[in-house]
Amino acid sequence: MTDAHLPAPPDTPSRLDTVRARIAAACRRAGRSPASVTLVAVSKTRSPDEIVAAVAAGASHLGENRPEEAAEKIPAVNAGVLAAGLTQPVWHMIGHVQGRKAGLVVGEYALVHSLDSLRLGQRLSRLAVAAGTVVNCLVQVNVSGEDTKGGWLVPDPAGTLPDEFLSDLHALQALPGLRLRGLMTIPPAVDDAAQARPYFQHLRRLQGRLRDSHPVSDWCELSMGMTDDFEVAIEEGATLVRVGRAIFGPRTT
Ligand SMILES: *Cc1c(COP(=O)(O)O)cnc(C)c1O
Repeated sequence: MTDAHLPAPPDTPSRLDTVRARIAAACRRAGRSPASVTLVAVSKTRSPDEIVAAVAAGASHLGENRPEEAAEKIPAVNAGVLAAGLTQPVWHMIGHVQGRKAGLVVGEYALVHSLDSLRLGQRLSRLAVAAGTVVNCLVQVNVSGEDTKGGWLVPDPAGTLPDEFLSDLHALQALPGLRLRGLMTIPPAVDDAAQARPYFQHLRRLQGRLRDSHPVSDWCELSMGMTDDFEVAIEEGATLVRVGRAIFGPRTT
C-alpha cells in the first residue's frame, strides 16, 4: 500500500495563501476591510529556516511565545531574512513573560500580547524607561474562568467589572514605559469554532466598556482567534489573529 496517489501535504506558502483567503472571506462576511486584520504567523517551535521560508512567502508579522526560545531564534531569522534580501518581519510576544525574563522582551517586540499582571507591567515599564523605549502591550483577559488561562479574570463584561482589574488598569495606564493598545484573550479549546464566538463577543464588549470608562485614543486592538477559530474571531472584531498550525502545519513539539 502506497500513498503515492494522495496529494502532497500543502507547504507553508500555499497554506499561507489559504489562510489569507479565509481571512478575506471572513472580512467580507463581516463587512470589514482585510486591511483591518493583521495576521500574526505563530512561529513558536519552528526552526529559523522554516520561519525565513514563511517570511519569503509573505508572512510579515511573526509571533513567539517563549522569550528565551525567541531570543535565540530571532537574530538567526532576522539574519536569514536580511541575507535573502527580504523585509524584516515584525515580532510579537504572545506567551507568558516571567518577571525575570522581562528584559528579553523590552525593545525586541512591536507588541506584547500577553501583559498578564500589574507586577509584569511595572517591571516592563521600568526596563523600558531605562532603555529609552516604550513597550506596546495588550492586556490579557481570562474570559472563561479556566485556571490554566492567564490574565485578569473578567467573568461578565456586561456586569460590574472586578475592582482589582479596574485598579490594575489605572495603574498600568499611568506607567511611563508602557502603552496599552487593547485586549487579548485565549478562549477555552472547543470542538466547534462557533462555540468560541461568545468568548470573542465577551472580549469585544469589554473593549467597548473600557473605551468609555478609560478614554484612550489608541485602545483599539483585539487579539483573538487561532488556527481553529480565527474566522469567527474576525467576524467578532479581531484586529490581530494568531495563527500557527494553519500556516506551518501540525506542531510535533
Ligand atoms: C500557539 C499559540 C497560538 C497559535 O496556535 P495555533 O493553534 O497553532 O494556531 C496562538 N496564541 C497563543 C497565545 C499561542 O500560544
